[in-house]
Amino acid sequence: MNLIQSNIPLHTKNWFGTGGPARFYAEPTTADEFAQALNYAKNNSLEITLLGQGANSLISDAGFDGLLIRPQLDEISFERETAATAYVKADAGVCMDRLIEWCLAHQLSGLEEFSGIPGTVGGSVFINLHYFEFLLSQFLVSAEVIDKSTGEVTTVDQAWFQFGYDYSTLHEQTHYLVSATFKLKSIYPLDIAFAHGRRKEIIRHRASRYPQSGTCGSFFRNFLPHELEQEKTGIKLPYVAYYLDKIGVKGNLSVGKAIVSHQHANMIVCKPGGTSSDIVTLARTMQQKVADQFGIIPQPECQLVGFCEYPFIHGK
Ligand SMILES: Cc1cc2nc3c(=O)[nH]c(=O)nc-3n(C[C@H](O)[C@H](O)[C@H](O)COP(=O)(O)OP(=O)(O)OC[C@H]3O[C@@H](n4cnc5c(N)ncnc54)[C@H](O)[C@@H]3O)c2cc1C
Repeated sequence: MNLIQSNIPLHTKNWFGTGGPARFYAEPTTADEFAQALNYAKNNSLEITLLGQGANSLISDAGFDGLLIRPQLDEISFERETAATAYVKADAGVCMDRLIEWCLAHQLSGLEEFSGIPGTVGGSVFINLHYFEFLLSQFLVSAEVIDKSTGEVTTVDQAWFQFGYDYSTLHEQTHYLVSATFKLKSIYPLDIAFAHGRRKEIIRHRASRYPQSGTCGSFFRNFLPHELEQEKTGIKLPYVAYYLDKIGVKGNLSVGKAIVSHQHANMIVCKPGGTSSDIVTLARTMQQKVADQFGIIPQPECQLVGFCEYPFIHGK
């Protein structure tokens, strides 16, 4: 099959199950193919976007009018440093869940805190995956990134990413992730049993609290400190779900086939046959309601693909 394909549907490649096709599409399996895809886009003056499992992406109904790259590099390897630690290198296309299982099978612990969260290593480093107090950046020590304009692969350290809440340097779109190396703890068989138990419990807990399909998880990110400082009513909580809960949208508010989850006020669920336009209209309504009542405007956490203009209400 040719590396560059055209007119590929994307609704089967993201968790909302919505969105139009990619005009051009590539699934590189090696760094070399990744560079070839970037070169194709450069020679044809195409916009580029990346997609992993599409668990945090909203794709416009019009689709994406450039080259969408969905890395399929999927190797995992490791080097034991000492009896207590090891470095695990995982390619950008590896699913986090597979990586966690692989680590536990090799008696390595740490990443199981992210059990049950869908996504690839690429998408997870991009957003700095988080669950309660755990951030993926706590484990990442180095990575290979590919330069968008030259296709050159370089090794960078943790500092290069300038990780923050929902942020890494990858947001600048000058480089894309090829692989990441994580530092993990080597543990004994008894601790492995404990780590497996913890993983199971996290997955059970998540399944009871969050929707498991037709969603991107939290639709809006939490408020940033400067956004709350502008707030005059004295409210300081950064959790957007708190405000959405207060206005009673959970399980109630819907537009077309998109509805606010009955399990979580900050999660939108799109039923089969829904559109990205349903999701956008619903999210805008949620933004407006929070703005009217609290004077602050939630901003999306999910990444937008193929929208000519920002489809939401801008923050203050
Ligand atoms: C049910 C559910 C629960 C969730 N719970 C959580 C949670 O608890 N915590 C949390 O943090 N997130 C959560 N999420 C969001 C999501 O799981 C994460 O953001 C995940 O990391 C997305 O990975 P992905 O591969 O699907 O990324 P995608 O949605 O495919 O892409 C996300 C972004 O990453 C970029 N990207 C992808 N690959 C690369 C690459 N190789 N190089 C550079 N950029 C790249 C894309 O361009 C895009 O901008 C949840 C989502 C769902 C559906």
